[in-house]
Amino acid sequence: METTSRTIPARKRIALVAHDHMKSALMEWVSIRKEQLIEHELFGTGTTGTLVAKATGIDVSCMLSGPMGGDQQLGAKIAEGKVDMMIFFWDPLDAVPHDPDVKALLRLAAVWNIPVACNPASADFLIESPLLNCEYETRVPDYANYLKKRT
Ligand code: PGA
Repeated sequence: METTSRTIPARKRIALVAHDHMKSALMEWVSIRKEQLIEHELFGTGTTGTLVAKATGIDVSCMLSGPMGGDQQLGAKIAEGKVDMMIFFWDPLDAVPHDPDVKALLRLAAVWNIPVACNPASADFLIESPLLNCEYETRVPDYANYLKKRT
């Protein structure tokens, strides 16, 4: 796939998702990182986003709950270039009913080259990155060219 460049804005659009057994870890992390997160625009799956808004007082645009389609809604936003990074504490020790949606969300994050953190340590590294508050030139699939070649 050929790529083209995209400018990620300084104010990032950050998706937050946590599976049920990981929600307490995410709530602890967002409470610690509230001052950094408030500078950015937050999105979340239904339950996670509502809990993050309560824990931090920051507005969160909430999708449907993950198992009800929220993961797919976030995936669509990533594909449309409307989400710039994702903090997704998925559960490494338990199965979830919407495993195909989880895979699809992680896959689209990889396709569209957005940074993803899967646990508190990787989320700390992302949030402490000097790139967090700057514009950043990234490479994304060249969709216009892809379509032109196929039609
Ligand atoms: P939830 O969904 O935030 O609505 O619990 C998260 C998920 O399981 O994807």
